[in-house]
Amino acid sequence: MHEKLYADIAVPSVPKDTLTYAVPDGLCERMQPGVRVMVPLGRRLLMGFVIRVHDRMPDFALKAVQQVLDPAPVITPEVMQLCDWVHRYYVCGLGEAIKAALPQGMDVDTARYVSLCTEDEELIARVVGRSKTKAAIIDALRTGEVMTEEELLALSGVRSISAQLRELLMEGVAQVESTIERPAARAKIVLTVRLVDPWQKREKIAEVMEILESRAPKQANIVATLWKHHGQGRRTVQMADLVREARASSAQVRALEEKDIVEILEEEVTREWEIRYAEKKKKITLTEAQRRVHGAISEAVDAEAHQTMLLYGVTGSGKTQVYIEAIRHTLAKGKSALVLVPEISLTPQFVYRIREAFGKDVTVMHSRMSVGERFDAWRLTLAGEYRVVVGVRSAVFAPLADIGLIVVDEEQEASYKQSDSVPRYHGRDAAIMRGWLEQVPVLLGSATPSAESWHNAHSGKYAWLELPERVDNAVLPVFETVDMAEARRQRLLRGAFSTTLVDEIRSRCERGEASIILHNRRGFAPHVECRDCGYVEECENCSISMTFHKDAVLLRCHYCGATRKVPVICPECGGTDLDNVGAGTQRVEEDLKAELPQARIIRMDADSTRRKGAHDLLLTAFSQGEADVLLGTQMVAKGLDFDRVTLVGVVAAEQSLLIPDFRSSERTMQLLTQVAGRAGRGSRPGTVVLQASQPQHPVLQFVLRHDYPGFMESELRSRKALYYPPFSRIVQLTFSGEDERAVEQTAKLYHISLGREEHFFSMHAPQPALLSRINRRYRWQLLLRVEKTRDGDGSKIGDALRRAEEYYLRQARNKSVHISIDVDPHNMM
Ligand code: ADP
Ligand code: ZN
Repeated sequence: MHEKLYADIAVPSVPKDTLTYAVPDGLCERMQPGVRVMVPLGRRLLMGFVIRVHDRMPDFALKAVQQVLDPAPVITPEVMQLCDWVHRYYVCGLGEAIKAALPQGMDVDTARYVSLCTEDEELIARVVGRSKTKAAIIDALRTGEVMTEEELLALSGVRSISAQLRELLMEGVAQVESTIERPAARAKIVLTVRLVDPWQKREKIAEVMEILESRAPKQANIVATLWKHHGQGRRTVQMADLVREARASSAQVRALEEKDIVEILEEEVTREWEIRYAEKKKKITLTEAQRRVHGAISEAVDAEAHQTMLLYGVTGSGKTQVYIEAIRHTLAKGKSALVLVPEISLTPQFVYRIREAFGKDVTVMHSRMSVGERFDAWRLTLAGEYRVVVGVRSAVFAPLADIGLIVVDEEQEASYKQSDSVPRYHGRDAAIMRGWLEQVPVLLGSATPSAESWHNAHSGKYAWLELPERVDNAVLPVFETVDMAEARRQRLLRGAFSTTLVDEIRSRCERGEASIILHNRRGFAPHVECRDCGYVEECENCSISMTFHKDAVLLRCHYCGATRKVPVICPECGGTDLDNVGAGTQRVEEDLKAELPQARIIRMDADSTRRKGAHDLLLTAFSQGEADVLLGTQMVAKGLDFDRVTLVGVVAAEQSLLIPDFRSSERTMQLLTQVAGRAGRGSRPGTVVLQASQPQHPVLQFVLRHDYPGFMESELRSRKALYYPPFSRIVQLTFSGEDERAVEQTAKLYHISLGREEHFFSMHAPQPALLSRINRRYRWQLLLRVEKTRDGDGSKIGDALRRAEEYYLRQARNKSVHISIDVDPHNMM
C-alpha cells in the first residue's frame, strides 16, 4: 500500500502561507508543485496553488483537494522562488504573490447554485410557514432551474433572502452546490477546413467540380475557394473566412465533409498584440563607446553568474542599440532574455525596435493587451515558443526558461512599483532578485538613474557602465528659462504661455520642424477657487479638490468619480468671483491654438489615448510630420526619439517640486532631463525652454547645467542627512475605514505593538494621511524607517509586522479597518 499524500496549498486572499489538504488517490499523479487546484474552505470552494506535496500527516482533521485544474505546472520552479521572495519581502500572502505571476483572467471563480432538494410537500409547507419570503423562494425554485443566489434574489422579488435561505438549507428543503466557472483566459480554438488528401490534385479537383457545379453550386464554390488558397500555399482556411469568401454556409461545408472531400479541424490560434507603430529602418554599427559597454555586458553574460550593472547613458546615447546587441549575444549562446520596460504604451518605439531585431522570437506582455492576447503570450512563453519577452512590471514573472540576461530599461520609473494593489512589489527590484536566484546578470539602463541605483553603483554594489555622449555627435540641447513672474509683470503672458515660448514654437512651425510641449498636470489639476476668500471646491468623500472638466462643464473627483455642478456663488463667503485655476492640457492646447492658429497640434494625455492603439497612432502621425506640436503630460517626456524635434517647452517647470514627497526633487530632475533629451536628436541642435516661477531653484540649476551627477551627489547627501532611502528602508502602513475612530485606534495599536520590538527601526506616532479621506474612508499612516545594516534582507521587519497583525487581531474590537503594508513605497500620499 502506498503512502497517503498531503499537499500544502497557497490560497490567494488567505493570509496564512499555506493550508494543508489531503490528496485523494485519484489525484496523486497530477498533484505537483505549481499546478492550480480547487480546495474547500469553510463553505466556499477556492482556487489555490500547490506549493509542496509530502507524506507528513498533520495532527488535525483535513479536507481533501477537490480538483486539479492543470495537467502540468503553470508556475515554474524559478517563478515560484521569486514569488516566495515577493511574499516575504513585501509582506503579503504567498497566494497573492503567485496570483500576480499569472496573467489576468486565469482566476477560477465558483458560483453557488441553489436548488430544491425535496418533494416532500408537507416538509416544505412546515418550513415555509407564514413567511412570504420563503414562499417566494420556493416558488422561484419550483421552476426547476438551478440558479445563483443573486438570480434567486431577483426572481423572488424581495429585498433580502439570506436569512430565509439559510433556514431552508438547514431544514433540508434546498441545497447549494458550488460549480466552477470557466476562467476568462483560455486558448482560442477555431474551426479550419482543408481538402482531404486525394482531392488535393488538380485532376481530382476538376472531377469533383464538374459533379458539384450542376448539383450543388455552393459546395463547388467552397471547393474552388479552398483550391485557390491551396494554390497559394495555405493548406487550411478558417471556417469563418471560408464561408464568407465562398458565400456559403457551414452546413454546406459539413455536407462536403460527409462526402469525404474536406476535413474540418479544430485549431488553436495565437492572439498577438499588434504594434501600430512603424518607422524607417536604419543601418547601425556600434560606436566606440557602445562597443566598450557591449564588451562589458557580453563578459557578464558569458560568466553566467549574477551581477547587476547600471548603464548610465545620456539621452540619445544609443542605449537601445546596446540592449539589442546584448540580447543578440545572449540568444547566440542559446539562452533567452527578459526585458522590462516601464509602460509599453509609452514606448512603442522601443518595442518596435526589439521586434524588428528578433522577429518571431519576441513576445510582448503589457496591460493594454486584451485578456486573450496576454494569456497567449504567457502560455506560449511557458511552452517555450519565445526567447525574448518584452514587458512591463508583471513580466518579471514571465515563465521564460534558460534566462541569460535581464534588462530593465528606464529603471528609475515609478511605474515599476505597484502601489495600489497587493503585492506592492517593485519590478526592478524583483528583476534583480530573479537575476540573483537564477544566477544571471541584470542590466539596468537610464539617462536618469534612481538615487537607489546611483548609490549602489557608486558604493560598488553594481557595476558602472557609461555612455557619456550622444551618437552621431548630436549635441545636448541648449536651455533657456523664462521667469514667469517677470513675464506676468511685463504683460508677456498669453494664457499659459510666455511670448518667448510662443515665438520659439512659431519659428519651428515656419521651418517645418517639430516641438514637444510638456504640461505635467500631477498635483496641479485645474480646480475652482474663490478669488475673494480662497475657498476651493473639494470632494465630499475624499479630501482633495475637485477637478474642473471643461468639455462637460462640471467638477469631478479623480479618486471616487463623484461629479458636481460648477458653483456660481462661493459657499464660504457668498462672493461671485469664482474662477478655474491651474490649466489642464486641454486648456493649454486652447491657449496655444489661440496664439498660433496655423499650428497643427497633437494632444497626448490620458483622455486622448484612452482607446486601444490610439497612443501608437498619434505617435506615428507625429513621426511622419503630420503635426508641428506634440503637447501632453509625462507621456511625451519619455523615450521618444524623433529627429524632427528641435524644441522642447515646459509649461511649468518646477511644479512637481510642490508634491510633498521625499522623491519630488529627484522626480523633477528626471522628468526635466528626460523631456529635454527629446530635443535635437538629429543633425539640428535642440533648444529647451523652461517656464518657471522660481527660475533660481537649485534643481532647475542642475537641469540647466546638464549636471545629473552633481544633482545626485547633492540629493544623496540630503537623503543621508534626513535618513531617507537609499540609506534606510521605508515601510509605510496605511489604515483605512469608514469609522474614523476605529482607524485611528488601529493605527495606534500597531504603533504600540511595533514599539515593543527591538530597536532596528524608528517611527513617529501615526498620523492622518495627506489624503486623509478617499471615497468616504478615513486614512491614517504609520511610517517606519528600518536600519538596513541591522535588517539586510528585510526579514526582521516582515516578522515584526506579522506579530503586530496577530496582536491586532487579538486586541482589536473593531476589525473593519483595512491595513495595507507598502515596503519601499513610491506613493507617499
Ligand atoms: P537612448 O535610448 O540612449 O536615448 P537610442 O537608443 O534611442 O538612445 O538612440 C538614439 C538614436 O541613435 C536612435 O535613433 C538610434 O537608432 C541611433 N543610434 C544608436 N546607435 C547608433 C549608432 N551606433 N550609429 C548610428 N545611430 C545610432
Ligand atoms: Zn472623491
